[in-house]
Order: sequence, then C-alpha cells, then structure tokens
Amino acid sequence: MIPRNRAVPESWQARLDRCLGETEWRDVFYSVPKTRDLFLNLPAGRERTLAISAVESYFRKRLESMFTGASKYALSLNNQTGTCMDLLFFACGNQRGKRIALQIADHILKIRKMAGPSSIELTESTWNPVAGCTVLSPGCTNCYAMRLAGRLQGMGQKKYARTTRKTGGRAKWTGHINLHEESLDIPGKWRAGRLIFVNSMSDLFHEDVPLEFILRVFETMRETPQHTYQILTKRAERLEELDSSIDWPSNVWMGVSVENSEFLERIERLKNTRAFIKFLSLEPLLGPLDTLDLRNIHLVIAGGESGPDVRPVERSWIRSIRDQCLDQDVAFRFKQWGGKRKKQTGQKLDGGTWDQMSAHALG
Ligand code: SF4
Repeated sequence: MIPRNRAVPESWQARLDRCLGETEWRDVFYSVPKTRDLFLNLPAGRERTLAISAVESYFRKRLESMFTGASKYALSLNNQTGTCMDLLFFACGNQRGKRIALQIADHILKIRKMAGPSSIELTESTWNPVAGCTVLSPGCTNCYAMRLAGRLQGMGQKKYARTTRKTGGRAKWTGHINLHEESLDIPGKWRAGRLIFVNSMSDLFHEDVPLEFILRVFETMRETPQHTYQILTKRAERLEELDSSIDWPSNVWMGVSVENSEFLERIERLKNTRAFIKFLSLEPLLGPLDTLDLRNIHLVIAGGESGPDVRPVERSWIRSIRDQCLDQDVAFRFKQWGGKRKKQTGQKLDGGTWDQMSAHALG
C-alpha cells in the first residue's frame, strides 16, 4: 500500500487521507525514526512500522466507526510466497440483521482462516498434502481435524471429499484418505523460512498413505531447507517400520502423541528412528505420565483438551511432566489447560508460563 522508504509523497498522503477519511493512519503505519545516521542526525520523515496485525486492527476500527458492526476475523489473502496482499472483512449496515449476519460472517472467516495459515500454536503455517484419517486411540475421540474436515467437506472443498460422514450430528472420519499431489510443492513457493506443521488434517504415517507418497513429502522437506517442519504421529509403529526407507533431513522435527500411560511405547519407537529432532506431544493429556524416560528427546509439549466434550486434565499431571523435563534437562512447553473456554483457563502453571523451545531444534 505504501512505500518502504521514508518519504511518502505528499500526493499519496492526500489521497490516502481522502480514501481513509482521516489522517490517523500516518501514526499507525509510520513512526518517527529513532535510529540516528552516521552524523548522529535523525533522518527526516517517517519510517514504516507496518505489522499486519496493526493494519488489521486499524481497518476493523475504521469499519466499526462507519458501519453498525464489523467481523471479528479478517481473512488474509496471500500471494504465493505467503505475503498478505489483501485483508477481507465483513461489515454490516443494517442494525436489525446485525447479530446473525456477524455470527455467520465470523464463522465463515474463522474456518477459512484456520484452513489457511495455522491457528495452531507453535507453528506459523500448516501444510496438508494428505487429508483424512481414522480414529486410533482415546486421544482421537474429539479430534479437531475431524470436525474441521467435516466443515470443509460441507463447503465443497475437494481435498476433503468423502473424508467424513455425519453421525449423530457430528462429523466422523470415514477412513477415506485423499493424497493431494497439488499440495506437494506449496512449501517450495514460500521463500521465507517458516515453522510448518505437516498434516494437521491427517496422520502422515496412516496405514493408507503409501510409502512412495510419504517419501515425496520428505523430498519436498529436504528441498526446502529454509523451513522447519514438525510432523506428529500416533502411528509410531509404522514410523519405526519405515524409518530405514527415509532419508531424514535435519529440518524435520519428528514427534509422537501420547495421551496416557497405555501408549508410552510410542516414545520408545520414536527414539528408535534416525530423526534429528524428536519431540513429544502429550496433548490432550488424559492421564498421569509419571515415568517418562526422556533420553534422546529434545522437546515436550503438554496440554489439556479443549472443545465441547472435554475430558479435564489434572494439575498434578502437568506438574509431574514439567518436573521430569526439568530433572532430565529437556525443553518443556505447556500449551493450555483447555476446557470449554480455553481462553479463560489460559496456560499459566503455578503463576508462570512454560514456553521453552528446544535449543537443539532451533540450532
Ligand atoms: S490420529 Fe490425529 S488426525 Fe487422526 S484421528 Fe487421531 S487425532 Fe485425529
């Protein structure tokens, strides 16, 4: 919208004033420079302080001042390198229909937002070359991907066709897996490095994903060393079995999910692989895990379940995992207590937040 250099032409400024109906944008998008030049003078003019979150909040406020209401969410329309080119909002002019119109708009914009750049914490983007899965263990019962896939399928997205069916008003996996060839080269189009969560809408090591396709996913990851990839599986047995066929790139973090002590063997199977960085996702945590052997594990992420039918997590379970990480010198991240309103329950543990990242992983 506006040039990176400090001199915004007067004619541009006047046009933007007219277009936006005020002059406050100058302070939101530009600041007076604080860095002096070689001769200790402050450069004339202003410098751009453009953050996409500031732009989003600015335009939402402008829309709210002009219409009866504006959507809580904005959809970022990105170019091929992932840079935001446009923001799509919804604004409503009619007071009578406002509540329901905004509810619908927020619902649609939120789903689209979730299907694009990730809303999953710890990652910047998701990449889904595979869609569809099968429930495997108790941690899958309230699978977020299953619910989202049901909605995306309902919206007619081809990638999710036949992956779910409705049972008792809820979307359930059918077990149908879609391999999405067109998605394989997406990370190659993102030039700037990202932290990418691989297959948030499936399990890469699902028995119906052919080895040949898994190897192509790894090929993409190897060819894009600017990115760091996180893969998470519950199919640790297949992971271990295929390990010798995989040429592990160093930019891949391999993780297994463990929800209770019944599935501790997944950790041992992960350890048997040659992945460079290994992590555990103890989420949704459904029982105590008091005997973790964290040798050769770089990062542990724990958290409670969120959503409509949550199974509560106990404080002592999280404390125990944190203490085992401290004792065994492993990075620990506590994501959330979860519950029906996860924003309210937050992520504080004994008054503090635990958000360590593995030093090994970050190089
Ligand atoms: S393995 Fe993962 S994606 Fe598949 S059903 Fe379980 S939680 Fe969902």
